Amino acid sequence: MTTHAMPDADTQATLKQNFDTVRQRLHAAAEQAGRSVDAIQLLAVSKTKPIEYVNAIAEQGQTCFGENYLQEALEKIEQRPDLTWHFIGPIQSNKTKSIAEQFDWVESVDRLKIARRLSSQRPPEKGHLNILLEVNISDQESKAGFAPEEVLDIAKEVQTLPNLTLRGLMTIPAPSDTLDAQRQPLAKMRALLAQLQQQLPDAQLDTLSMGMSGDLEAAVLEGSTEVRIGTDLFGARN
Ligand SMILES: *Cc1c(COP(=O)(O)O)cnc(C)c1O
Repeated sequence: MTTHAMPDADTQATLKQNFDTVRQRLHAAAEQAGRSVDAIQLLAVSKTKPIEYVNAIAEQGQTCFGENYLQEALEKIEQRPDLTWHFIGPIQSNKTKSIAEQFDWVESVDRLKIARRLSSQRPPEKGHLNILLEVNISDQESKAGFAPEEVLDIAKEVQTLPNLTLRGLMTIPAPSDTLDAQRQPLAKMRALLAQLQQQLPDAQLDTLSMGMSGDLEAAVLEGSTEVRIGTDLFGARN
C-alpha cells in the first residue's frame, strides 16, 4: 500500500472540518431544491495548494479535483494518478497536448480550435476526453467563454470530433451578493443546457458545472450537477 504525504495534524483537522461543512451545505441546498445530493458532484479545486492538501481531502473520500495551472497540475497528477482530474483554467493552444494526455475532463473549452487540438492530441488508448463548453453567461468583457447564442453551433462541431465526448456546459458568472441576483445567470445556463439537450438528443449532455464557494446554494437551486469549490475547502489563496 502506498502512503501519501499529509499536512500537519492541525491542517488535517481543518481540512476535514472544511470538507464536512461543504458536504453539509451541499446536502442542505439539495434538500431545499428538492433534488438528490447524489445528482451533484463536488469538484475540489486545489489550485495553488500543495499535494499534501489534496491527499488530506482525498482521504475524506473525495475523488475529483480541479486545477487551473498546467505545470502545477501535472506535478500533482503524477503523484495521484488514481484521482480524477479536471482542467478548469484558461487554455493556451501550445499547452493542449499535455492537457489532452493527462486530464479526464476539460471544462474551460472556449474556442473551437482548442477542442480540435484536444481531440487530435488525445491518446486513443485513454478513451474519450470529457469536454464542457465554457459560457460567458454574464457577458463580461474580461471573461472567457462562448456567447450563449454561439453554443449550439459550437456544440454541433465539437460532437463531430472523434476523441472527445461533449458532456455539457460550465460557467463563472459575474459575482453578486444576494441569492436572487446570483440565481439569474445560473437560470439562463440551465435553460441553455435544456435547449442543447433538446436540439442534440443523442448527445450525452448530463453536466452543468456551476457554483463556487460563494454561490453554491444558488447553483444547486438552478440545477447545477457539479459545484467547483476551492476557498471553502482548502482555505483562502494568496
Ligand atoms: C478557482 C476556481 C474555482 C473555485 O473558486 P472558489 O471561489 O475558491 O471556490 C472554481 N472554478 C474555477 C473555474 C476557478 O478558477
